[in-house]
Amino acid sequence: MKVEDKVLDLAKRRGFVWGPSPNIYEGGLKGFYDWGPLGKLLKNKVENILRKGFSGFSFWEVECPTIMPKKVWEASGHMDGLIDYVTYCTKCKSAHRVDHLMDDIEDFNQKKLGELLRERKIICPSCKKGGFEVVEKRNLMMKTKIGLDQEAFLRPETATTTYLLFPELYRFFRTKMPFGVFQSGKAYRNEISPRQGVFRTREFTQIEAQLFLLKENFNDYEKFNDYADEELPLMKYGFKKIEHIRLGDSIKKKFMKKEAYAFMNFVAYKLIKDMGFDSNKIRIRQHNPAELAFYADDAWDIEINTERHGWMELCGIHDRKDYDLKRHAEFSKTKMEVQGETPTILEIAFGLERTAYALLENSLVDDKDRDWLNFKQGIAPIDIAVFPLMKKEGMDDLAKELFSNLDKDFACVYDDSGSIGRRYRRMDEVGTSFCITVDHDSLKENDVTIREVSSMKQTRIKISEVTKIVKDLISGKISFEDL
Ligand SMILES: [Zn+2]
Repeated sequence: MKVEDKVLDLAKRRGFVWGPSPNIYEGGLKGFYDWGPLGKLLKNKVENILRKGFSGFSFWEVECPTIMPKKVWEASGHMDGLIDYVTYCTKCKSAHRVDHLMDDIEDFNQKKLGELLRERKIICPSCKKGGFEVVEKRNLMMKTKIGLDQEAFLRPETATTTYLLFPELYRFFRTKMPFGVFQSGKAYRNEISPRQGVFRTREFTQIEAQLFLLKENFNDYEKFNDYADEELPLMKYGFKKIEHIRLGDSIKKKFMKKEAYAFMNFVAYKLIKDMGFDSNKIRIRQHNPAELAFYADDAWDIEINTERHGWMELCGIHDRKDYDLKRHAEFSKTKMEVQGETPTILEIAFGLERTAYALLENSLVDDKDRDWLNFKQGIAPIDIAVFPLMKKEGMDDLAKELFSNLDKDFACVYDDSGSIGRRYRRMDEVGTSFCITVDHDSLKENDVTIREVSSMKQTRIKISEVTKIVKDLISGKISFEDL
């Protein structure tokens, strides 16, 4: 089996990702997935790293509604801008995204796209007979109603809902600029034909962080200097390869224009590294001018090299200038200024599901003897498993007691079925960091065997010290070698 297929198989079989959802009803809806118990644990751990990480850089968390009236989306530009170009087969009538039929298009013009489809004589991939003639625009927002008849939409991103808080936030931060906030929550996009599994879904979780700042803060940004020596793997537009550039040199060498913006790239990159991604599979790639929104000053994506989809975006870092606040000020007739200046927004946008899934794939190790998940300490869905060597002579009672103690503080499982070797393999397969075995000697010596997933090394530790040792191992305070 190829690595990518192994990940899919593992994700389904061991309860990471199920779907499409709701699976029992005719195989579910495309673009919707369920996260099973292990997947949800993994997702929570990824989310915790981001939440803790953003908080650690002084971003404060907010939470907004997921439904907003039409006017908000007119102001934000999503009403006109969040669209796909769709065309229908002349024979079988199936709908297709134009950019899926012709993936080399950079300039999207409705009339021109129709001409191109006819000129190139594109054949329908569904029936292999029909062709295409007319191109339609389809908005990707999901529509709903508030009360009896007020038109509203499910948010296609968390960011817009955060921008609307600017006047309140400005007061909360006691009118001091710059300030940072973030929001974690669901967003929805009615993708015409979702592909790429959990990488492109119709409902997803985003964590987006914003830094609100004034022009005087662009290149006088204290935190930029604090991390000047950190290196970033940057792939500038027009360059063929990744260059490792010090944050401090990113402005001097003209990779980026604003210190504060370069700092936002560093924050996002650091959080991805904290999750344990293999650093030679990460790059920060600048958008080409065609990808860049008309109002944006600059945009870079952090991408991970995946087996199934090649380089995939986990996170975008955008310099949105003063576009959003200006638009919402105009449409809402609310002042969004600081001393006559509309603040700029620098943004980091993470997709949570795709990050968790990429991490799952990135962690799979295909050894000769075993398939196992090599998660960074503290990221594994299950921290620890407890086994009695045999279900007799009180070994099972002692193991159960140990389990119920550990289960209070850690994600912990108890397993007494099958040989020890099989139990280890079951745990290796989902990357469980440590396994503890209660054997004959445990009853006399009050100690147990602890085994580390990555090295498969084992050692004995006192039962009275198990909780503390596991805690220190998982937090990275000590390593297995120290035992
Ligand atoms: Zn067709």
